[in-house]
Amino acid sequence: MRRFLIAGNWKMNCGPNETAALLEELKKETPVISENVDVLVCPPFVSLSMSVNHLHDTDIAVGAQNFHFEDNGAYTGEISATMLEESGCNYVIIGHSERREYFGETDEGVNAKTKKALLHKLVPVVCVGESLAQRKDGVHFDLVKNQVTAALEGISSDDVLDVVIAYEPIWAIGTGETASPEQAQEMHAHIRNTIESLYDSETADVIRILYGGSMKPGNAEELLQQNDVDGGLIGGASLDAKSFSQIISAAEKIS
Ligand code: PEP
Repeated sequence: MRRFLIAGNWKMNCGPNETAALLEELKKETPVISENVDVLVCPPFVSLSMSVNHLHDTDIAVGAQNFHFEDNGAYTGEISATMLEESGCNYVIIGHSERREYFGETDEGVNAKTKKALLHKLVPVVCVGESLAQRKDGVHFDLVKNQVTAALEGISSDDVLDVVIAYEPIWAIGTGETASPEQAQEMHAHIRNTIESLYDSETADVIRILYGGSMKPGNAEELLQQNDVDGGLIGGASLDAKSFSQIISAAEKIS
């Protein structure tokens, strides 16, 4: 049986006040969460501690959207894994395409962060995915394979079981365009094969691969029904308690 992960990436939205309001709504809207579905919200740094406090009596986990791979030091403006752990986070998004594009995040940095997250018992949600130009050029399978391989470099077969991969075609993020269920399945199977070639088939079976890119209540069910889609990383729709809850319900229905 699959255990889905439905994760909300709030991006640079919701300071503490808006976060409190959205979480209250979410608590009202969220269906009963079974053991087959994990639910996660990733608010901005300044709203993390209060999110942990707000959600302590629920089955909704809290994660961050980024961190620095060093533990502390002269890195003005940065936040470390130790700090996230201390704030009560259980997950962290790593290598989102917006971080790769606007903040120069590299495959090497993603690898360093993935290792550090594991060391701090934070579940790394490692994002990979191609641009529209790369898909048109037909290099998307190689590109994603290389991103996954680089992210997992030097990670043991025991540790990798805790890694979550999120396939997010850049052309589908925040655009209203979604990969078709077939396109998603095709790439998710490719990612699973990549993990099998790096580790083994048991490992590949266990690792969760999320789809991200304009997942909404209207398309969640058909995406989540695909064999190799183990959940969703949701941007826009996670800022609406009703929509996010409906996506959770879709996962509950299928699981
Ligand atoms: C994301 O930012 O991870 C994302 C998938 O955004 P959206 O759902 O808005 O496309």
